[in-house]
Amino acid sequence: MAARILDGRAIAAKVRGEVAEGVARFRESHGRPPGLDVILVGDDPASDVYVRNKEKAAAEVGMRGQLHRLPSTTSADELLTNIDQLNRNDEVDGFLVQLPLPGGLPETVILDRVSPAKDVDGLHPVNAGLLALGRPRLVSATPRGVMRLLAETGVRLVGKRAVIVGRSNIVGKPLAQLLLAEHATVTIAHSRTRDLPDVCRQADVLVAAVGKAGLVRGDWVKPEAIVIDVGTTKNDEGKLVGDVAFTEACERAAWITPVPRGVGPMTIACLLENTLRAALDRARG
Ligand code: NAP
Repeated sequence: MAARILDGRAIAAKVRGEVAEGVARFRESHGRPPGLDVILVGDDPASDVYVRNKEKAAAEVGMRGQLHRLPSTTSADELLTNIDQLNRNDEVDGFLVQLPLPGGLPETVILDRVSPAKDVDGLHPVNAGLLALGRPRLVSATPRGVMRLLAETGVRLVGKRAVIVGRSNIVGKPLAQLLLAEHATVTIAHSRTRDLPDVCRQADVLVAAVGKAGLVRGDWVKPEAIVIDVGTTKNDEGKLVGDVAFTEACERAAWITPVPRGVGPMTIACLLENTLRAALDRARG
């Protein structure tokens, strides 16, 4: 049976429409649009594309968006000063520091400086901790996007076995918390996991968040599973590809996300949702 495709682009368009309505209401009551700022340090070409997409998406839903480009020679102190300015700026409801940072900049120190109330990437220990305690506030956009895609299948997650391949702070770990909150039984696999194909074959919901093209083969997929491919890599022809061998996996899965047009558009839409949420929370005081 061929899998049904979870069309991230179409679902993200719905989410962006909802956000645009919220932005219009916010503007009416507060006399200004919600604001999303992005700090980009250095000239990584992939990061450059991501931040421009975020800026464009913010403008399309009526938000104020600003990109702060800093040279790769920026010192930790200079970057922290920029973060402090955004923390203090009342027009800025949410902001993020685009990762990866150029080598030498202390990522933890930098991310910890972002005000938890404006931390739309959900990477501050306060937000990560609240999520782990089952009291989510600002949660990383990619896992939220994955949850929204899962919701669109209409499949109940209670008691289902979920396997996430990848344990990063921005995808794997927060996603595990969100799936636990929906009462799934969650396994997180990583580079040291033994018998990865067998672990994956247990999964009713299989999420690949690694960054290794075609790692997950079709015969790793349990028949009728939901397969979510977060990974993105450029192949030799410069085409964006996922972690899952898509054609093979389609033979077994019930639902699957493509790459591109799967998780990627959801991430941006959920980042906008986070910014609106941060704006509303700040306005409430
Ligand atoms: P990351 O921080 O590099 O984490 C990758 C994870 O994969 C690590 O936990 C690593 O294990 C694990 N891993 C590496 N090789 C493995 C293997 N052979 N078998 C099993 N696990 C393995 O990456 P990330 O930031 O989470 O991103 C993961 C992928 O998702 C990347 O391709 C990224 O571009 C993509 N991504 C896409 C979106 C989107 O919107 N579409 C958003 C975020 C990320 P260890 O912990 O043991 O090293």
